[in-house]
Amino acid sequence: MILRHQSFKTNLRSSKSWSFMDLYTYKKSSELLDRARKVLAGGVSSEFRKYNHPHALFYTHGKGSRVYDVDGNEYLDFTLSQGPLILGHSHPHVLQSVQQYSQTGQLFAGQHIREVELAEKINAIIPGAELMRFCLDGSEAVQTAFRIARAKTGKQKFLRFEGQYHGWLDNVCWGIAAKSTEALGSREEPNVFPWTEGLPAGSGNEFIVLPWNDLELLKQTIEKHHHELAAVITEPVMCNSGCIEPADGFLNGLRELCTKFGIALIFDEVITGFRLSLGGAQSYYNISPDLSVFAKAIASGYPLSVIAGKREWMKLIEDARVIHAGTMNSSNPTIAAALATIEVLEKENPYKRLFIYGNKLMEGLRQAAAEANQNLLVQGPGPMFNIGFTPLKRIKDYRDTFTCDKAKLGKFIGAMHDHGIRIIGRGLWYISAAHREEDIDLAIEKAKTVLKTI
Ligand code: PMP
Repeated sequence: MILRHQSFKTNLRSSKSWSFMDLYTYKKSSELLDRARKVLAGGVSSEFRKYNHPHALFYTHGKGSRVYDVDGNEYLDFTLSQGPLILGHSHPHVLQSVQQYSQTGQLFAGQHIREVELAEKINAIIPGAELMRFCLDGSEAVQTAFRIARAKTGKQKFLRFEGQYHGWLDNVCWGIAAKSTEALGSREEPNVFPWTEGLPAGSGNEFIVLPWNDLELLKQTIEKHHHELAAVITEPVMCNSGCIEPADGFLNGLRELCTKFGIALIFDEVITGFRLSLGGAQSYYNISPDLSVFAKAIASGYPLSVIAGKREWMKLIEDARVIHAGTMNSSNPTIAAALATIEVLEKENPYKRLFIYGNKLMEGLRQAAAEANQNLLVQGPGPMFNIGFTPLKRIKDYRDTFTCDKAKLGKFIGAMHDHGIRIIGRGLWYISAAHREEDIDLAIEKAKTVLKTI
């Protein structure tokens, strides 16, 4: 026990001296989890929350770059609640705006001026957002994009890429996790696997799946299947597996192919939006998708997503040829949260800092791994990046991620957690505007210790 929990609560408050009381333990969370399991399926409200270390945990509060659990453990947080907290926890301007606007009501089943202000703002900063609608989460905004693409092109299928994630609804619940590269089948015609039971039989036929970042293969496939393809959907940076940046010319080539064959190009900017730059990946890479989806960071943890696109595509919603609806859409608190988040992002312009700190942390982790003689691959643009224990020098697609030692990653993430550093279980790190240079230094210091022990 003592050896496993070599870390102490004092890690983040170095003035305290060691004692048994200072060990990171999870007793209260464990008791609450037992209680929760009696009424919440699996004790949680989203599947991914089960896979915390050492089990689902219960939190009391968060402030800036720190989050605290019921056992009094303090964490330097690089999960940012799976991405949304671009400004860190409990940003005062966001909380105040939500509180202030909530005083005027929650939801009107009608319009209010602030949603127009938000749409105008998004229209001004995101190149491809000529017209938009607000929804609640990334999953439903993705489905709205498919519906528009099908209606406009008159075609049925979409093309997606192995290892990318576009939500948990039926037709995107395929090809997310395979047991091995062999199970994935050939690169030209990969097998797909359901991620869950209960999917409609036909939902596995709605799409064609391919490895990412292979323009030649993409070209051959689109040339063969363009007559049935309504859309290609892609994460512009493949954040959900390996944090892989697009190969030179890949996104441009994809854009050209979609234009040539009358296929909608959908950018799933649920992670890259408001994170890679204020204008998202489309602005960062200067590529113009037909439709794009934003969620997570736009509203600092409040349930707001956006389906946005060029007027000629979004017009189908305008003309009610495509129905998009939702009782809870554009509630006062969510719109207030998004307006406040964008105000802070515009005022502080933290993007340079996100890259500098991200790159400093990545380099620090590389050096720490070299010192500990570990094959740790660290890759990503900076505001988000991924780590994996692999001999490869670069991961270029989902298939490469099978070279990673998942058990070792699990040990590293668990040990870092016991040292007060919270990272997403699959190796993804997010930097927020609330992280300071000393946070980056602290994470590197802890990684140096941990990498020598695993
Ligand atoms: N697209 C991407 C790229 C995502 O990472 C996610 C969530 N992780 C989604 C879509 C689904 O978003 P939500 O969880 O808000 O439904």
